[in-house]
Amino acid sequence: MYKTKPCTIIPPADYLTSYDAAIEENPGNSPITESSGRKKRAVAEHTKFWKPGRTLKVRFLDPLSPYELFMFMQVFAQWEQHINLHFELALTGEAEIRIRTKTDEDRSALGTDALTIDKSEPTMSISLRPDEEYFEANLLHEIGHAIGLLHEHTHLEANIPWNKQKVYEYYGKMGWTQAEVDKNILTPANGALVDTEYDKASIMHYPVPNELTDGVWEVGINTRLSERDKYAASKIYPAAPDDTPWNTQ
Ligand SMILES: [Zn+2]
Repeated sequence: MYKTKPCTIIPPADYLTSYDAAIEENPGNSPITESSGRKKRAVAEHTKFWKPGRTLKVRFLDPLSPYELFMFMQVFAQWEQHINLHFELALTGEAEIRIRTKTDEDRSALGTDALTIDKSEPTMSISLRPDEEYFEANLLHEIGHAIGLLHEHTHLEANIPWNKQKVYEYYGKMGWTQAEVDKNILTPANGALVDTEYDKASIMHYPVPNELTDGVWEVGINTRLSERDKYAASKIYPAAPDDTPWNTQ
């Protein structure tokens, strides 16, 4: 989802702060709660999901017209239909989600990592405006990160037949080092944050041009929430907290 540079995830202040923020927000984020047989959670990486039922305030750090504000919040509402989280526009004061729009970057903190970011700093950057192509797709993707979803192409079961040399060259032209390509694209996620099957149609998937893979394998630009996106998110943020298998409260 990008014009020039691909999306990156904003790192937390540091690992321990990230862990503490995640567990304090939602004890179910602990990697220790594996007893329910959720095999993919065996990897010791904490998740960063908000507490189901939570209202998250959304504030825009740069001036936007009322029309633009409306259009941004409409996209939040698309996710809201499927999850037990509420997004509330905050015109002033503190907000968990702080969005920079005067930017050429597209990035977001991952779920509760937003709590570890200095309150004067954005937790999300969105480069496109509502009337531009891919605005909605781009914002849906970044909101996915904001609710704790990782990049789908780093899913442990993705098995994408990357042609690594071509991937390095392709993203190198956009200014990425090999290390950045490894981190953002080629390295499988340490601990799947969503316990569902790999989904090529996910809004959280980068486009994968066929030229970057061996053989015939590609993913186009996904522009809407896939059925599995909706399903996975609804499992993470269920209507009744008791339905969350890893919710210990
Ligand atoms: Zn992303």
